[in-house]
Amino acid sequence: MINKRIAVVGAGISGLVTAYSLQKQGFDCEVFEKNSLPGGAMKTVKSEEWQVEYGPNTLLLKDKSVKDFLEEMDLLSSKVAANPAAEKRFILKNGKLEPLPGSLLSAVSTPLFSLKAKLRVLLEPFISKSTNPDQTIAEFTKRRLGPEMLDYAINPFVAGIFANNPDSLSLRHAFPAMHNLEQEYGSLIWGSFAGAKKRKESGRIPRELISFKKGIGELPSAIASKLNTIHFKKEISSIEKKLDGWYLISGKKQHGPYDHIVLNTPLYKWSSEFLSLDKNMMKKIESVHYPPLSVLCLGVKKEDVSHPLNGFGFLIPEKERRSILGALFSSTLFENRAPGGHHLLTVFVGGGRQPKLASLETDKLLPVVLDELHDIIGLTGEPVFTDHIYWPKSIPAYHVGYDEILEIFDKIERENPGLFLAGNFRHGISVPDCIINGQKLAERISAI
Ligand SMILES: Cc1cc2nc3c(=O)[nH]c(=O)nc-3n(C[C@H](O)[C@H](O)[C@H](O)COP(=O)(O)OP(=O)(O)OC[C@H]3O[C@@H](n4cnc5c(N)ncnc54)[C@H](O)[C@@H]3O)c2cc1C
Repeated sequence: MINKRIAVVGAGISGLVTAYSLQKQGFDCEVFEKNSLPGGAMKTVKSEEWQVEYGPNTLLLKDKSVKDFLEEMDLLSSKVAANPAAEKRFILKNGKLEPLPGSLLSAVSTPLFSLKAKLRVLLEPFISKSTNPDQTIAEFTKRRLGPEMLDYAINPFVAGIFANNPDSLSLRHAFPAMHNLEQEYGSLIWGSFAGAKKRKESGRIPRELISFKKGIGELPSAIASKLNTIHFKKEISSIEKKLDGWYLISGKKQHGPYDHIVLNTPLYKWSSEFLSLDKNMMKKIESVHYPPLSVLCLGVKKEDVSHPLNGFGFLIPEKERRSILGALFSSTLFENRAPGGHHLLTVFVGGGRQPKLASLETDKLLPVVLDELHDIIGLTGEPVFTDHIYWPKSIPAYHVGYDEILEIFDKIERENPGLFLAGNFRHGISVPDCIINGQKLAERISAI
């Protein structure tokens, strides 16, 4: 055992992975979580035969280190791969669901893009590199691929991943791989071909979209079960540095001293009472927007839906002017999510596109959603199962100028020796990114 005490505040995936990796290296590590369950945004709820996800639904496995981590958590036996049918993803165009092209042939024939837009994509390798080091996703896409690709591919894609708009996010921070393709190869098309070998060498494995038999929530539960000390229902109200180390305040209790603190709480939870920081820094941190999002899990009878739901789900471009961002065909995606004869749909509403809609009460929101589903997938009748999850602050927006926020994180760590920051606000929002970043942080701490 290394003679150092570490406290991790927050049992989201970032905090859990950091704590587990530190414990493995011999540190005496304690986790404090305000809720009664681990996982933060990762939460699966089972209700009779319905199994719903409140946060992430899928995990994209492409890094060997993440697969190895799942193996270490004894999760490979309960891993479930997405139904191959889920390769098909639909985009709404002129009120009709069109599959996104998955091959060269279908790319030529798809009605999703006009002939002009298809020819414009062919020009991509000849478009020169941008000199702007921090462009929006919208600027980048319009310049390299043309306006239709922005409207009917990237706009819905960004809504599906970040619950946000391509004109408010930084390409370099939100999609660093795309940014790098342009910078290294001068073209997305050339870069995709030329970079394939390099990706293989850099520890990439064939991509696999997965969940677990009992849902995404199995992952945080498995990590938590391997931790020596995790305190649930312990909300930390303040973090203080004293002469003999760091202390955490929870209610009237003080915990400590600790040599190091790892902070996994989302940025909007920070305040001057929580952590003593320079006012300007705090202001900048408060400027990071987390758009509100509603998730509606709806169970419907198969006979009430005219669309075969033969895919991953659908996304809606902003141009289509609809009241939902899209939906996952959850029971097509994975088995055992709905009772026989039924479909489970997971519908997303609001985000940066329509923040006000996200906050509607269930009785107001449900009719709006059902109207859209009637129109888009031919849903008739009422759902037999409904669960509504409201995320007042869903996912941090990596805005243009996010470098400044990343520099503030570095400065906080430099000026407060022993304090470390771990979360989806830094270097990636996906669950695999949080796993990789948690492991890297633990390595950094153990190297001190
Ligand atoms: C609706 C939704 C869908 C998503 N879909 C996907 C997807 O399909 N695939 C994917 O890869 N990613 C997805 N993501 C993103 C991914 O789930 C998150 O980025 C990731 O889980 C965040 O983990 P985290 O550890 O950084 O933070 P969090 O999960 O936010 O964890 C922070 C933890 O800190 C705790 N906490 C906060 N304040 C305190 C306090 N004062 N004291 C003690 N504890 C505290 C919280 O309770 C929480 O447990 C989705 C996110 C959302 C919201």
